[in-house]
Amino acid sequence: METRKPMQAEEMLEKIFYYMNQLVDEKEFDATIRLLTDLGRTLVNSERASFWYWDKGKHQYWTLAASDSGRITVPEGSGIVGASITTKEVIVINNPYEDSRFNPQVDKETGYVTRSILCMPVTNARGEVIGAYQAINKLGEDENSGFDDQDVKHLALVAVFSAKTLESDMLYRESTEDPLTGLKNRRGFFNYFGDFVEERLQTETASFVMCDIDFFKKVNDTYGHNGGDVILKHVAQILKEGVGKDGEVARWGGEEFLLLFLKHTEEETARRTENIRKKIMDSVCHFEGQDIKVTMSFGVRQIDPQQPISANIEFTDLRLYEAKRSGRNRVVAEG
Ligand code: GH3
Ligand code: MG
Ligand code: MG
Repeated sequence: METRKPMQAEEMLEKIFYYMNQLVDEKEFDATIRLLTDLGRTLVNSERASFWYWDKGKHQYWTLAASDSGRITVPEGSGIVGASITTKEVIVINNPYEDSRFNPQVDKETGYVTRSILCMPVTNARGEVIGAYQAINKLGEDENSGFDDQDVKHLALVAVFSAKTLESDMLYRESTEDPLTGLKNRRGFFNYFGDFVEERLQTETASFVMCDIDFFKKVNDTYGHNGGDVILKHVAQILKEGVGKDGEVARWGGEEFLLLFLKHTEEETARRTENIRKKIMDSVCHFEGQDIKVTMSFGVRQIDPQQPISANIEFTDLRLYEAKRSGRNRVVAEG
């Protein structure tokens, strides 16, 4: 068994500064969580540490997998994490195999030996629990070492920081994503465009597609607002698949979407868009035992890098208008 001497105050401060410096530079969400997890593990001197995020919509907890970019999920309420989240209490267990709250099944399957657990609920600014921090196996001076009050205090520091990080990420998501379709909204698209696309347009071709569901008002009138929502999700999925890794899709307004094709001329984009149009026309959406079918109209235009993005979108919109005016369920390019 690995043992380790307790850290001196100076060494601990050094670690905190080391991680804080890295955190300031880190913009990526998963990497930030990994840094915070490492900091927690270091401060309480444990073999493992994990941050468990509570996805209340899906009724599950998830954590980042140790080695790759994947996520591990468990059902809401399970394990020590579940107990800590449910009771909003810090749980310290230094003799897990004698504790009824601990399920030894995973250890039996993997051969891992859990000797001690420290689990702490993490709350947001409103005091609501959003997840939990879990440290496993205190690496003390001998195998009887367990977590103590000092460890709880140290982990609380990291828990507060994690809560802030998660909250700002959640707020950013809420302000840039359309909750119905999961697509970027206008703001999300403009952020993405500014961060990743604008500069590339100096040397690369790209095209916009503006599209809109035909007679969508009739869908709502016939099947109700929920039926309309199901259709919106359905076409959003087809549009997303249609663009794939070649660009982005955003929900621009009610039943209107903006597509971006990177490294695509107008001609190439028109061809891709025609395939999407047919796919939507041929697809059937099931809602409460009924089959709903819709068509969409599309305007395609290559981006003019000399013009601002807003003007480029307006030009593309004019072509969508032309597609509507000339009969709908069609793709209009070159005008
Ligand atoms: P056109 O072929 O000319 O585009 O006709 P349209 O009926 O699709 O266009 P119109 O602008 O008259 O109607 C759009 C409808 O979209 C009206 C609005 O209630 C509905 N809508 C907008 N956002 C949502 C939404 O989030 N959910 C649902 N169910 N309907 C929405
Ligand atoms: Mg419409
Ligand atoms: Mg519309």
